[in-house]
Amino acid sequence: MNSVTTIDHVNSDLQRLAIQGGAAIFPEGPPPWPPVEEDILNVFRAIWSDGSWARYQAQHLEALEQQLMRQFETSHVALTCSGTVAVELALRGLKVGAGDEVILAGYDFPGNFRAIEALGATPVLTDIVPGGWSPDARLLDAAWSPRVRAVVVSHLHGDLAPMREICGWAAERGVRVVEDACQTPGGLVQGKAAGTWGDAGVISFGGSKLLTAGRGGAVLTHDAQVRQRIRIVNQRGNEAFPLSELQAAVLLPQLEKLAFRNQRRQQSVVRLVGKLAHVEGLTPAKIDGGPGVASYYKFGWLLDPAIIGKGGRDAFLTAVQAEGVAMGEGFRGFLRRGNRRCRMVGTLPASRIAAERTVLLHHPILLQGAEAIDRVARAIEKVLSAMYGS
Ligand SMILES: *Cc1c(COP(=O)(O)O)cnc(C)c1O
Repeated sequence: MNSVTTIDHVNSDLQRLAIQGGAAIFPEGPPPWPPVEEDILNVFRAIWSDGSWARYQAQHLEALEQQLMRQFETSHVALTCSGTVAVELALRGLKVGAGDEVILAGYDFPGNFRAIEALGATPVLTDIVPGGWSPDARLLDAAWSPRVRAVVVSHLHGDLAPMREICGWAAERGVRVVEDACQTPGGLVQGKAAGTWGDAGVISFGGSKLLTAGRGGAVLTHDAQVRQRIRIVNQRGNEAFPLSELQAAVLLPQLEKLAFRNQRRQQSVVRLVGKLAHVEGLTPAKIDGGPGVASYYKFGWLLDPAIIGKGGRDAFLTAVQAEGVAMGEGFRGFLRRGNRRCRMVGTLPASRIAAERTVLLHHPILLQGAEAIDRVARAIEKVLSAMYGS
C-alpha cells in the first residue's frame, strides 16, 4: 500500500459521516443543561438547612422579583408557573377576552396560540419577515381590524422583532403589546431590555431555557394596573399559577451569571456564523446586534431548498445529531389551523418556509469555547458536503 492511499483512507474515515459508521465529531454527545455547579449546590444546602424549600412563603420569591426588576429595568414583576401561563396572564392583564382578536405570527411558539384561545379570543395570523422568524409593524398592520385588542410578538431563534416600530404602530392603533422574550432573557432590543418594550413582557424559566428552574415564568410590566389585574387572576384565595420558593432560590444565582454567559454565547455565535460563511446550504439568523446585547437560546438557520430536496431536513438533522451536535427543527407554525380557530392574513409564505426549513442549535454548546464551536462548524460542513454529494 503506498502512502497516498493510506492518507486517502484516513481522510475518508474522518470524512465519513457518523451515521455511516465514521467517527463522530463529538463522540461524547452534547453537553448537559444546566451545568453541574457549586453555587446551585450551595443554594440546595441553604434552603434545606433553613427549611425554606418547603414553605409557601419565605424570602426567595420576593428576592427574585426585586432582582428581576433591577436587572430588567421594569417596575413590576409577576412570577408564574410557566412562560406559557405568563403569556396568558399578560393577555388577561391587558383585558383581552371573548370576542377580541389578538395578532400573532403564523410561525411562533404553539403555547401562544393556545393562550389566546384560552381567553376566548381569536388569533389573527400574520406573516414573519422573510429570512427571519419575527413579524414587523407593516405585517402586523396588515392583520389589523377594529376587533384587534393586542398583539403577541416573539423574538425567536436569534432574530429580534423591531419593537420600537411595533410599539409606535400599536400606540397609533390603540393595540396593546405582549413581548415574548422567553428566548432572549438579558438581551437588548434596539438598546432596551428584551421584554420591557411592550405593555407586558414574558420570560420563561422552563427546563431548557437560559434561566431554568425546570418550570416557571414571569410577566414584566411598567403598568401597575396590569400587575394588579394579574394579581387578581392569580390569587383565587391562594396562588393559582405559582412559582415556588424553591424555584426562586435556584434562579437567583443564575441571574447573576446571565450577562457574562450571554456574552460568551454571543462570541460563540459570531465565531460559528463566521466559520460557516463559505458553506453552502444554510442561511443564519441575522446577528448585527453589536457586542454585549444578544441573548441566544436556540440559534436558527434556514436550510436551502436544494438541501430540502436532497433527503430533507430530517436527514440533515439525523446526520448532525449522529455527530453529537444538539440540533433540532423549529416550530411547526400555524398554517394548518382551520379558519374556525383563527383568521389568516394571506398565505403566510415566510411562515411556511420557516416551518419547513428551520434548524436550531441548542444553546449549551455555546458556553464550551472556541474549540467546541469549531467542531460544530466542522460537523455541519461535513454533513452538508455529504448531502450535496460534492
Ligand atoms: C419556551 C417558550 C415559551 C414558554 O415556555 P414554558 O415552557 O411554558 O415556560 C414561550 N414562548 C417562547 C417563544 C418560548 O420559546
